[in-house]
Amino acid sequence: MDISRLAQHFFANWSGFFRSVGNPGWGNFFWLLIAASLAVFALELAKPWRKGQRVLRHELGLDIFYMFFNMFFFPLLGYATLSAALASGVESLAFVKSLRGFISLQTLPPAIQIVILFVVRDFLQWNIHVVLHRVPFLWKIHEVHHSAEVMSFPVHLRYHWAENIIYRVPEYSLFLLIGSNVPDVFIIYVVSLTIGHLNHANVKLPWGPLKYLFNTSELHLWHHAKQLPVRYGVNYAISLSVWDWLFRTAYNPPAPPEGIGLLDEPAFPRSFIRQLFWPLASRR
Ligand SMILES: [Zn+2]
Ligand SMILES: [Zn+2]
Repeated sequence: MDISRLAQHFFANWSGFFRSVGNPGWGNFFWLLIAASLAVFALELAKPWRKGQRVLRHELGLDIFYMFFNMFFFPLLGYATLSAALASGVESLAFVKSLRGFISLQTLPPAIQIVILFVVRDFLQWNIHVVLHRVPFLWKIHEVHHSAEVMSFPVHLRYHWAENIIYRVPEYSLFLLIGSNVPDVFIIYVVSLTIGHLNHANVKLPWGPLKYLFNTSELHLWHHAKQLPVRYGVNYAISLSVWDWLFRTAYNPPAPPEGIGLLDEPAFPRSFIRQLFWPLASRR
């Protein structure tokens, strides 16, 4: 897998981005994000879980802005180019070359390779998420995601820009360590995007026993609870809930939490610009 190409985060530059916007298609991340968003939004409208929740709610615009900022604008502001350059620099180092493909999946069928990469990436993300909740400075960064007070699908991508780096660097390192010959891991991003949208949506899908495998909106709502049942929180799942069940961080009572958002953070800013500086400002 070409990490420097992966690090371009789907679009290397603005012209590539605008070309994608002008050419809707299934291989195009911009339009897949729009399609997944519209599909989950339609579900929220047709079968809302919390009936009293307003559709045109407070901070809906902010959450949608975050979605586009984190997926496209932040990478296009230089992050994509910089991380691709860094990745290719790192890839050319001799010791990294020796680590490349340390674990090889190449003899396996491509579909199995994709599933393994998906599961291993998700486990890595689960661990990073646990760390974000436990290290005070990282928690300040992650508070932006937890500052949402109403849950619906765009809250999925409401997070501080630094999380792009915190999640991506270990992820690219992992992909570098695992040698695979699948041409693209695009499908992994699309599947996790859809699951993430559903986890944050105001919909309750009949997952049945699959809730022990996949993250659900019921589990994830408790992750965002204002009054946490235990100190650092519960249900750290990104796409797969199995890690929470295995490591006893799952919490699945019959009723949803009373309120969601941050407890004891009255000074938390509500504007995008001030949220950018929150991790630094809140340290004073
Ligand atoms: Zn969290
Ligand atoms: Zn969340």
